[in-house]
Amino acid sequence: LKGRLDTTGAKDELKDLALTFNAMMDRLEVFVEQQQHFVSDASHELRTPIAVIQGYVDMLDRWGTENPDVLIESIQSIKDEAASMKILVEKLLFLARSDKKTLKVEKTDINLSKLALQTLKEIQFIDDEHEFIARIEPDITIHGDCHLIKELLRILIDNAIKYTPEGGKITLSCVQTFKAITVSVKDTGIGIASEHLHSIFERFYRADEARTKNTGGTGLGLAIAKQICDTHESQIFANSILGEGSEFIVFFNNPIK
Ligand code: ADP
Repeated sequence: LKGRLDTTGAKDELKDLALTFNAMMDRLEVFVEQQQHFVSDASHELRTPIAVIQGYVDMLDRWGTENPDVLIESIQSIKDEAASMKILVEKLLFLARSDKKTLKVEKTDINLSKLALQTLKEIQFIDDEHEFIARIEPDITIHGDCHLIKELLRILIDNAIKYTPEGGKITLSCVQTFKAITVSVKDTGIGIASEHLHSIFERFYRADEARTKNTGGTGLGLAIAKQICDTHESQIFANSILGEGSEFIVFFNNPIK
């Protein structure tokens, strides 16, 4: 990957060709570097739960048969760690498929308003610690993959829940204008410091390492959200004020424009 063509003295067309080749090599180099980081970060993330499981298996081995408390605690912890490993591996697979362009994307016309309301209801059902507000215009249609759009909404609403203390408000809006369809998930939570805002869509990036580990975050949710937006030619942005709350906004092209 080190090779670059020397353009000094080359004729114009050859120079253009060489410049295009060099630019491609630059992009390839960045991509390979990103993939190497991804693999090493993923291995690092998987090492921790594996080490915890090993620790509990050792404990079971030594005291499991004599001490029922050790038995119960170890089994529960192994179950929890295995469950979080499964979530992590599923997210890694999603991103790997998306990099390889083998992600299944089946687009149809979907009623975004209904899908958004349904997703919010499902989440609301299992969370009675926050106030949920829906500002959803009826019958907004987008052309997209129903499962992926639902996943995108879930990621944004789940994050709003994770990073908003009990009693806070979470507002889901879907609005249609002539040019665009805008989906927004706004919370009154802990917010994100401005120096982190431009990095939160990167893989494994956590704005607050200590806090996110507690919430069980993988640091992959927003990277997946961004990939889903890319497959729908839509853009995702975040606004936030530390200590006051955050808003994640997705813009879809209006298909009936
Ligand atoms: P995680 O699994 O850690 O939540 P994400 O990729 O979904 O990973 O988010 C990346 C980081 O962005 C999080 O670790 C958190 O620091 C920050 N973040 C995401 N959503 C919010 C939010 N609604 N409020 C505050 N911080 C957020």
